[in-house]
Amino acid sequence: MTTGPSVRAALLRFPQRSWTAARCGRCHHLQEQTMTSSRTARTTESVRAAESVRTVAPAHTVRAVRTADPVRTADPGDTGDRVSTIDTVRRHPERHRVLTGDRPTGPLHLGHYFGTLQNRVRLQDLGVELFLVVADYQVLTDRDRADRPADYAEDLVLDYLAAGIDPQRATVFTHSAVPALNQLMLPFLSLVSVAELGRNPTVKDEIAHAGRATVSGLMFTYPVHQAADILFCKADLVPVGQDQLPHLETARTVARRFNERYGQVFPEPAPLLSASPLLLGTDGGKMSKSRGNAIPLGADEDRTARLVRSATTDADRHITYDPQHRPGVAGLLQLAALCQDRTPEEVADEIGSGGAAALKRLVTEAVNEYFRPVRRRRSELARDRGHLRKILAAGNEHANAVADTTLREVRTAMGTVTAAA
Ligand code: ATP
Ligand code: MG
Repeated sequence: MTTGPSVRAALLRFPQRSWTAARCGRCHHLQEQTMTSSRTARTTESVRAAESVRTVAPAHTVRAVRTADPVRTADPGDTGDRVSTIDTVRRHPERHRVLTGDRPTGPLHLGHYFGTLQNRVRLQDLGVELFLVVADYQVLTDRDRADRPADYAEDLVLDYLAAGIDPQRATVFTHSAVPALNQLMLPFLSLVSVAELGRNPTVKDEIAHAGRATVSGLMFTYPVHQAADILFCKADLVPVGQDQLPHLETARTVARRFNERYGQVFPEPAPLLSASPLLLGTDGGKMSKSRGNAIPLGADEDRTARLVRSATTDADRHITYDPQHRPGVAGLLQLAALCQDRTPEEVADEIGSGGAAALKRLVTEAVNEYFRPVRRRRSELARDRGHLRKILAAGNEHANAVADTTLREVRTAMGTVTAAA
C-alpha cells in the first residue's frame, strides 16, 4: 500500500499496548481435545465448524478488530459488531476460524512477527482454529519464477514453529497443493469488476515496487485469489498487517456478493490488526522480505547489529519520535518500543541527545534480547528439515479435505452439473 507520510504517522501512533487475553478453562479443554484428536477426526470437526461459522456483521467497509485494545475497535465511532466479535473470540473460540499466511519469498522478519505472527499464536492459544497458507502461487505476482519455493516454504514453517505455532493445532499448507481452493477463484473472479481490481492501493504499490515493464494477470487479480484462500476454509478472522486491508475488503465483497447471488455460503471475514500493523524497515519504508530492508526473525545477533547499523536515520543528534518528518528514526524507536513494551516516546526520551549511534545500540540490544528464545528454538528446529516437510504434508491433506467440502457446497449453490454427481 502506498503509505504517505501522514498515514505512516497515524499508523506509528498506535498505542503500544499488548493483548493480554486470558485463557479460560474451556480453551485449555479445547486445545487438549484438538491435540489428542486424529487428523481424520479433525477434518470432520473442521468441516462441521466451517458450516456453523458465524457471519460477521454485513458492514460494507472493512473495520478491523485491533488487538491492542480488545474492548475498542479501530474506528472509535464503531462500538457495535467488532466489539462483540472480539468478545466472542474469547468466550467462544470454537466459533472462529482464522486464515492468514505469507509468500515464500524469504525468511520472515520482525514486521511479520509484530504485525501478525504474534497474534496468530495468541489466537491459537485461545483455542481458535488456525489455517496458515504458504502462498506459493502468489510469489509469481511480481516475478517470472519463484526462487527455491519449496526451500522457502520449509523456512516459513520453521519461522512459524519458532514463533510458537503448534502444528497439532494449526494447519500449515501450500496453495499449489490444494486444487479445490484454486478452483474457487473462477466463480470469485466473476463477482468483481476490473475497475474495482484496478483501484486496490496495495496492488498499485506492489506493481510500483516490482519495477517490471508489464503487469501480469495474476498480480492484478491476486486479491481475488486471496479471497479464495480465506473463504475456502470459511475463515471469519484474518490477522494481517496494514497493507492487507484492501484485500480483506475484496474478500468481504466476494463473500457478500456470492451469498447474495447464490445463497448463504460464506462468512464475511474481518481483519485483525495488531498494535503494530506497519513496521518500517531499515530504509524507512515498509519492512518487506523482497525489498532488502528487513531484519529476519532468524538473523543472528551480529547480523542484527549490522542491519540496524545500516538503517537510514538523519543528522539531528536529538532523538525525537516524529514519524512524519523522521521516518527512519521513528521506525527504530518503534522497534525498540515493541521489544521493550514501552512507548516510542519513552525510548526517545531515554536517548535524548545521544544521537543515532546510541539509538541503534539500544535497538540492537532490545531486538537481540527479545528474540533470543525464538532464535534459539529456530536453530534447534532447523536441524530436522524432514519434520518441516511432514508438517506441510499433513497440513496439505487437511486443507484439501476442507477445500473439497467447500467447493462441493459452492457447486451446489451455483447449481452446476457437477453438483448432481
Ligand atoms: P514480500 O516483500 O515478498 O511481499 P512481505 O514482507 O510483504 O513480503 P508478505 O508475505 O507479503 O510479506 O506478508 C505476509 C503478512 O505479513 C501480511 O499479513 C502482511 O500484512 C504482514 N506484514 C508484512 N510486512 C509487514 C510489516 N512491515 N509490518 C506489519 N505487517 C507486515
Ligand atoms: Mg507483501
